[in-house]
Amino acid sequence: MKGFEVKKHKETVFLQLPILKGVKHAFGTRQGGEEILEAFGLSPGQLLTFKQVHGADVLILREDPKTLNYPLLYDAAITDREEVALGVWTADCLPILMWDKSKGVVATVHAGWRGLRYEIAQRTILRMKETFGSSPKEILVGIGPGIGPCCYEIGTEVVDLFRSPYGSHRSFIYNRGGRSYLDLCSVTQLQLLKAGVPSENMEVMPLCTACRKDLFFSYRRDGESGRQLSFIILG
Ligand SMILES: [Zn+2]
Repeated sequence: MKGFEVKKHKETVFLQLPILKGVKHAFGTRQGGEEILEAFGLSPGQLLTFKQVHGADVLILREDPKTLNYPLLYDAAITDREEVALGVWTADCLPILMWDKSKGVVATVHAGWRGLRYEIAQRTILRMKETFGSSPKEILVGIGPGIGPCCYEIGTEVVDLFRSPYGSHRSFIYNRGGRSYLDLCSVTQLQLLKAGVPSENMEVMPLCTACRKDLFFSYRRDGESGRQLSFIILG
């Protein structure tokens, strides 16, 4: 199934992907941050977000989040705790939500070019496999709205970083008018495929945060103006 749904609750607007229909999740917009939790009957205290550092560390959360050492310097997290809503804040980077129904595990990833350079999407799948016994074939992945290749111009130093690891970069770096543009979503999908997730287990939100000012904050377009919250929770 393809496409996405736009949902409204009071003043908030959020998006959902059909592939994650069986689990509570939302990709936020500029209309509503933590308020979107209310649409699912969740309290802000259930939300766990991170001091995202564009790194490659994945938090494995099995204990009560109250026992963790803060600040939490992570860009990805995996949990089997039913009461914890894993959240990710983005404004151009991709919010990625993952669900393994058979093992009862969810994960979030904050993926920009820095994290993807460290293969954070792939690493998160591998950690799900190692730690929770997930089979990549059972993991469903929703890739939320981020900046698209229409708007995401990158410099030659970033082009060079992505040129070698994948053999050919032609499927995710585009050249137009002497400039280079990166397709974060295609890099993510390649990493997921490398980790063993079949393409039919992935769905993508076909919206660019920089193009869609009506819906999203965009760092590239606006600078430090705000970020949208996305989350997933088992319970
Ligand atoms: Zn765009």
